[in-house]
Amino acid sequence: MDARTMQGIGVSDGIRIGPAFLYRPHGETAARTAGQPGPGEETPRLGEEEAARETKRLEAARDASVAAYDALIERAKLTVGEQQAAILVGQQRLLTDKAFYPPIAKLVAEERLPAEAAVRQVVEQVAGKFERLASDYMRERAADIRDIGGRLLGELTGEGAGQLASLTEQVILIADDLAPSDTVQLDKNVVLAFVTRKGGKTSHTAILSRSLGIAAVVGAGNALDEIQDGDLLIVDGAAGVCHVRPDEATVAEYRTRMEEEARRLEQLAAFREAPAASRDGKRIEVAVNIGTVKEAEAAADSGAEGVGLYRTEFLFMHSDHLPTEEEQADAYTQVAELWGGRPVIIRTLDIGGDKALPYLPLAKEENPFLGYRAIRIGLDRPELLRTQLRAILRASAHGKLRVMFPMISSLSEWRRAKAMLEEAKAELDREGVAFDRGIEAGIMVEIPAAAMQADSFAREVDFFSIGTNDLVQYTLAVDRMNEQIAHLYDYFHPAVLLLIRRVIVAAHRAGKWTGMCGGMAGDPLAAPLLLGFGLDEWSMDVSSINRIKETVSRLDSAECTALADRLLEEATPEDVRRELKAYVDGL
Ligand code: PEP
Ligand code: MG
Repeated sequence: MDARTMQGIGVSDGIRIGPAFLYRPHGETAARTAGQPGPGEETPRLGEEEAARETKRLEAARDASVAAYDALIERAKLTVGEQQAAILVGQQRLLTDKAFYPPIAKLVAEERLPAEAAVRQVVEQVAGKFERLASDYMRERAADIRDIGGRLLGELTGEGAGQLASLTEQVILIADDLAPSDTVQLDKNVVLAFVTRKGGKTSHTAILSRSLGIAAVVGAGNALDEIQDGDLLIVDGAAGVCHVRPDEATVAEYRTRMEEEARRLEQLAAFREAPAASRDGKRIEVAVNIGTVKEAEAAADSGAEGVGLYRTEFLFMHSDHLPTEEEQADAYTQVAELWGGRPVIIRTLDIGGDKALPYLPLAKEENPFLGYRAIRIGLDRPELLRTQLRAILRASAHGKLRVMFPMISSLSEWRRAKAMLEEAKAELDREGVAFDRGIEAGIMVEIPAAAMQADSFAREVDFFSIGTNDLVQYTLAVDRMNEQIAHLYDYFHPAVLLLIRRVIVAAHRAGKWTGMCGGMAGDPLAAPLLLGFGLDEWSMDVSSINRIKETVSRLDSAECTALADRLLEEATPEDVRRELKAYVDGL
């Protein structure tokens, strides 16, 4: 067959070349033969004795699945850390959950269905319910249910389980979808990359692929049907592209790119130790964005001077209950200690929008990004925010922590949040619990209203951090999750740039500092602008740190100030981008 190129969503960077391995998950083939009627056939009913035997078989499969999860969880703790392993703990609990297992057992005992048919029926019901819900998060929970069902079927039929863990040859994995329990089994020395038909950027699988260092493309759709076992593939994780059966010239081109990538990473590594500064000696602070304790650990010697954004929602998302004050304090203390005296900005819970918590049901909304989200939830359910603030304060005794509130749109929200922080301090004082009295508190500037009022905020907050991911969507009215209008989503839009500059100027006028933790901070093309605007702290994914330090080292701050002033006068995002490109290429 001919060469083909498929476009999906790149979720984990890297170029990899290797043969395809089509993953047929647990029990998929067996399921087709055992206990599954052909088209138009009824599932046969069992006799009483047979049904009793099926019940025993089902129980044995459940127990074996629970035991298999024990092993997976132990492995996950070693490879990707406690918090990521918690995803599997949640799945393991689902296996015996009353909404899942008893209905299966009932179908076998009362309806006298074969165990496989009963599992399949309940999986369809429960997963189907999740799939009909609007949010990506809920659809991903459907994948969890299917994963558990597949595992039970695998045990019942003796097929499939352990397929991934027993791979020994280097392959590129092709799957309909990969569940977290599949993903944690992957060894990056064997599974070079994976490409899935389904999945989105916010899936746990996407997050895990980055933690494991496996290049990954998700959401490639039905194009994957064209791939056969053993086909040669090239995966470009950054571009979200998969080349199938490429010709020799393409393979040669990508081999060269891989070599260049390796050489470039090696050269950039020289910047890890160095503080970030421009050619003329202007210092900037480079920080890292993290989501878990494991990532805090992995990034601790990445050359970052601090953590500019700790997204605490992952701690909540990877748990099956609201993390207690104790559990939160524990995680935050670990991060504080890992980073020693270096500052760590902990952002309070930012759920809603595309992020949900299974144990905290939120009403379905027409416009979730304009709805019940982030600080709005924290202020509406003060117990939630209060618990988190107490946990952050307790951890602040063990390092240099800062608190940051997301999605602030008015001074009243900031003042209420700040007042809650002060109350939490007073409580801890009364209880005789130690905390950092000098802890700084700031806000994310990710709503244009906050940017417009930056002068007023600057008088009251200790710092700003600009969240371009949201600031862009709210300024330009472009949903950050909508593929169809993705071309309109651009932080080089002059309106966005005007807001960014306004925030930085306001902070400096009041003697405060401004960071940026949105994706723009890690983009080398944006570096001349951000240096020109005088951005103080740049916080980014760990993989961008060396590259940004290298780019900044080639810039001249006075030249960039003049360039930034000029670019603010430009009319369109394309103009800005073109000029920046010409400037960076000419360095
Ligand atoms: C942002 O909005 O830029 C940001 C950093 O926050 P998040 O991506 O978590 O919304
Ligand atoms: Mg945001």
